[in-house]
Amino acid sequence: MAEKVRYLNELKMTEIENEKDSILFLPVGISEGHGKHLPAGTDTFQAEYVVEEVCRRLDKPTLIAPTLNYGYCRATRHLSGTLSISFDSLKSVAFDILKSLNDQCFGKIVIVSGHAGSSHMTALKLAAEEVLEKSDIEILLLSDYDYAYELKGEDVPSTDGHGGEIETARLLDIREDLVGKDRPDTEVKYPSFKVMVDYSEYLSDGMRGNARKATKEEGREINEYVIEKIINLVEDTF
Ligand SMILES: [Zn+2]
Repeated sequence: MAEKVRYLNELKMTEIENEKDSILFLPVGISEGHGKHLPAGTDTFQAEYVVEEVCRRLDKPTLIAPTLNYGYCRATRHLSGTLSISFDSLKSVAFDILKSLNDQCFGKIVIVSGHAGSSHMTALKLAAEEVLEKSDIEILLLSDYDYAYELKGEDVPSTDGHGGEIETARLLDIREDLVGKDRPDTEVKYPSFKVMVDYSEYLSDGMRGNARKATKEEGREINEYVIEKIINLVEDTF
């Protein structure tokens, strides 16, 4: 099974020439403060794990491109470990990567971003739209959190967020060795409709939710849900 996961970086030119019909996955990660209990690479680990599992299980040829491992974040920039590039830089680099994939004749691209900030996702979307203006390739753009947060509501409160129960549980399943034992339970309330440039007052712990409640079993269930959702999406699209 494991050999089914294939990385563009590991193939030779002659092999890549035969891969133009493959579905090309581009994981997007980031380095970002995620509370005192989660590593800065949390979003990267989640995106890469989900992409690998989707590729392992999909009944279609797939290829994984090198991870775009920088993104845009404003609300967490005061936290240790947050390395943000600007909105325009992210849009430009995403455009360049997608254009290059297009030039290489990859026609089916799936971008999976572990970081789900709205401005970050908008930059990726604008880049994709710009490429599509001059190309007929197909691009799917999503965050694994588009699906993971569908599970908020019953067992997990709707206020759960960045670094909270769902994210902690998912990382316990993926990289338990990197999850701290001392986990916060932090309630955060943002003022409604207020435009802000400094979130440090509201996000001083770098997380929102009850990370103490998270379990590895819960994380397994959430990750399986996300993986199945993405598999269905890709099968329905390509
Ligand atoms: Zn995250």
